[in-house]
Amino acid sequence: EGYNSLNFIEQIVADDLKEGISQKSLRFRFPPEPNGYLHIGHAASICLNFGLGEDNQAPVNLRFDDTNPIKEEQEFVDSIKNDIEWLGFKWAKECYTSDYFQQLYDWAIQLIKDGKAYVDGQSAALMAEQKGTPTTPGKASPYRDTPVEENLRLFEEMKDGKHAEGTYVLRAKIDMASPNMLMRDPLMYRILNKPHHRTGSEWCIYPMYDWAHGQSDYVEQVSHSICTLEFKPHRELYDWFLDQIIDPDKLRPKQREFARRNLSYTVMSKRKLLELVQSKTVAGWDDPRMPTISGLRRRGYTPESIRKFSEVSGITKRDSVTDVSLLEYCIREDLNKNATRVMGVLDPVKLILGNYPADKTEMLIAENNPEIENSGSHEVPFSKELYIEREDFKEEANSKYFRLTLGKEVRLKNAYIIKGESVEKDVNGRITAIHCSVDLDSRSGSGTEASMRKVKGTLHWVSIEHAVKAEIREYDRLFLDEAPDSHEEKGFMEFINPDSLNIVKEAYVEPFLQSASIDDKFQFQRVGYFTLDKDSKADHLVFNKTVGLKDSWAK
Ligand code: ATP
Ligand code: MG
Ligand code: MG
Repeated sequence: EGYNSLNFIEQIVADDLKEGISQKSLRFRFPPEPNGYLHIGHAASICLNFGLGEDNQAPVNLRFDDTNPIKEEQEFVDSIKNDIEWLGFKWAKECYTSDYFQQLYDWAIQLIKDGKAYVDGQSAALMAEQKGTPTTPGKASPYRDTPVEENLRLFEEMKDGKHAEGTYVLRAKIDMASPNMLMRDPLMYRILNKPHHRTGSEWCIYPMYDWAHGQSDYVEQVSHSICTLEFKPHRELYDWFLDQIIDPDKLRPKQREFARRNLSYTVMSKRKLLELVQSKTVAGWDDPRMPTISGLRRRGYTPESIRKFSEVSGITKRDSVTDVSLLEYCIREDLNKNATRVMGVLDPVKLILGNYPADKTEMLIAENNPEIENSGSHEVPFSKELYIEREDFKEEANSKYFRLTLGKEVRLKNAYIIKGESVEKDVNGRITAIHCSVDLDSRSGSGTEASMRKVKGTLHWVSIEHAVKAEIREYDRLFLDEAPDSHEEKGFMEFINPDSLNIVKEAYVEPFLQSASIDDKFQFQRVGYFTLDKDSKADHLVFNKTVGLKDSWAK
């Protein structure tokens, strides 16, 4: 990688190396809160942090930021680990902020003793009111000058469960007139009588993010603590807390910020994704319409496509929205190179070859992937009665129509050239069967003169006798609005697309697909890319449509 291809965070690290920080002291972390599943926004942070680790041969910790027992669960811890591994990254150490609860408590005692922290017994509303506004100084709490001994006693009582939730908090004593509101005596601890998914009921006071995060970075000796832009005003507090406890012989972590990744036509915060799950708007965190890593995986996305998306959408200093069609472009490119080519008919109409023997089955050869050399091939059975797509036939059409019509020839993929002869219809005029003749000398790959004949159209098909019935799930955007959570008058739930899922109950696919495994990826020729869903059973195949062959958005 050339110098110029570094993003600005990579550049900060490169500059630090130039200015003398040793390569050996580089260390990074990815710090999810286990309060939901990871989404495509997190992938930006994962690729950035683990990418920095790879480029600098430096360790990257996975740190669970588990300071809020109300929202955190083991299920989320497990899914997060699974998703990061699936993306192809390995963490050096699995860490938990909760592992530092005792250390954080000890440091808090030290701050109290140094006169830098105090217990406040006022209501949250009153404390908020005293904070003032950015342009007017705040008012000191009457607890601000409580003697150290009294603070120590109250804080211990808080820890020992002697006080109810909401009665007392521990605050840092900084500056009630600071232009940075976060510096106006921020909270360090609150009382929560909630069991924690790791520490059980050992603690009933829990550290606030600002108090826990920087100190955790310090404990782990993280050199660069990279977070998103909304934490920029927190940097001053991050540094203040470090100043209170730092040993000058140890590495001092530094916080740097980059812009969150947003994606059009979706919401990205875990709280909102949880709402979609809990309201049953989607089938779960891994619903293929979700922007979660697990949803994208189930939809048919590959780790490579998500990493590629992270690379091309870049790391920026200002908030922006990436078009979801870029994500789709990344998976389409990947699947075009790697997906096995098969045939499936989603809206079948019967086609009968008049001059083909009724009792004959031919096994034709289908190349697995023309994009890959020596990708091999598989067999496709061919017989007298086939299904083709209903939309691939018109009784009459102009000369620009290259599909099947009466009196004109098309090729059946990997098979023969056929010609439309007549149709059968039901009482409503709907076509029930198309009768064709077949040029028996024209089989693809047979080397005959007839097989080389050029005809304009090529159609996909399946043999009725051999085809396997399958369920196909097609997806559209989950939201009708480009930025569903940007409206002041309306909540994001009001922009849900009611037609985001379309289930095709009776599609027919070639029998080769019966041996597919969950997550296998295919190009259904002329239709799109599909992956076998986890709901599949041996006698009931279910495919998710990952993405169409072309950018349907631009059309
Ligand atoms: P959410 O609102 O989705 O819960 P969060 O920031 O609270 O987001 P965390 O679990 O704390 O979620 O995130 C872990 C890491 O991933 C943090 O460093 C965070 O800054 C980063 N991150 C989260 N969302 C995005 C995003 N959309 N783009 C880039 N990085 C993100
Ligand atoms: Mg967070
Ligand atoms: Mg959050």
